[in-house]
Amino acid sequence: MNIALIAHDAKKELMVQFCIAYCGILSRHNICATGTTGKLVAEATGLEITRFLSGDQGGDQQIASRIGCDEIDMVLFFRDPLTAKPNEPNDMNILRLCDVHNIPIATNIATGEVLIHGLERGDLDWRLYVR
Ligand code: PGA
Repeated sequence: MNIALIAHDAKKELMVQFCIAYCGILSRHNICATGTTGKLVAEATGLEITRFLSGDQGGDQQIASRIGCDEIDMVLFFRDPLTAKPNEPNDMNILRLCDVHNIPIATNIATGEVLIHGLERGDLDWRLYVR
């Protein structure tokens, strides 16, 4: 499965801890991420991660375009809802495209846990047939 990681600044450490905890599962999938998120997770876990541009440089739009092409099977997007961001419309576009294409997306760690366990159990295998 192709999994995209994005974490706002206030959630990056949480994303790193999450990926350390689930490194074993994530290592069996293709991981891509926005620039800084990918760098931090790769350094902490040793996972091979395809890194796009930083979110504010267009990395979130690179991921959005892949979602639009049905090339992403699951998104872990740990959002900070308390801080206004200049690229907020791009964030909303990712949520919208996931809804358009029925891509599972977790916007917080609680849902992230559910998705990662579902992934491991095969709950998302239907994605292989859709693609
Ligand atoms: P970053 O981008 O991983 O490059 O910081 C994430 C974001 O859009 O905040």
